[in-house]
Amino acid sequence: MGLPRRLLDAAVRRLPAQGLDRAVEALLPRRPFERLQMPARSALTVVCDDGEARDLEIVEALERKGVKGVFAVSPDLIGRPGFLTYAELRQIRAAGHEIAFHGTTHDPFSGYAGPAALEQAIGAGLRSMSAEGLGTPGTLIYPYGRHNRWVRAVSSRHFACAFTTWFGLNRGQANRYAIRRIPFGAYVGKLAGTEAWYRGLFDEAAKAPCWPTLMLHPASAEHQREHTEMLVRLIDYAEQRGMPVRTVDAHLQAAAPSPAGMATSPQATR
Ligand SMILES: [Zn+2]
Repeated sequence: MGLPRRLLDAAVRRLPAQGLDRAVEALLPRRPFERLQMPARSALTVVCDDGEARDLEIVEALERKGVKGVFAVSPDLIGRPGFLTYAELRQIRAAGHEIAFHGTTHDPFSGYAGPAALEQAIGAGLRSMSAEGLGTPGTLIYPYGRHNRWVRAVSSRHFACAFTTWFGLNRGQANRYAIRRIPFGAYVGKLAGTEAWYRGLFDEAAKAPCWPTLMLHPASAEHQREHTEMLVRLIDYAEQRGMPVRTVDAHLQAAAPSPAGMATSPQATR
């Protein structure tokens, strides 16, 4: 590595772990496989993490509005007490919702010894999902939102895109393997998280190509029934602002339509 990289390394060593990963992602140029141009029309995506049984409340709410969401599961957790079963996930998928990959064991990807170990873990989880009739997911939701430069490269060999827990609206051009999300219900932290605040974000998103993506943890104590009702109203609001609710798969197809359907295939990488 040359001098700029060494200076960068020196600077980021002082930051906390996620801060370091964020700094590297923000400062180093995007590699070709990381570039994603937002489609001209903004869309709203709803992602539920972890595949717990309370996701069914969100499925029901989305179905009431006639829209589809994304449900991110870890194969090692499927069927455990409190988690959705493969049979339930097959039903959710058959209803038109997207099933995304959330790590085989829910361990953070950046904690693996290196690319080969992560490759092996991803491969095992994808084989389980496919064998159980869930197809091969094109979308990755990083466990704990954790990723870094080598994790993104490995992920690009298996998935069309990946989402983090980092906050953002994904305006204009985004990192395809570091797509930001907006916490909803749980993990809102210091953000306002009020209905007016989400409306404000949607107003912003409707003005220019943007991809607001809500991050839900419906089984968390922080996610209350009122949040699910607020979600229903916010879906109405997004649609009034001209933003359809789309799965990741559907929005990526709008981002880079191609006759061969390459938009949703894993990206070539180096
Ligand atoms: Zn998770």
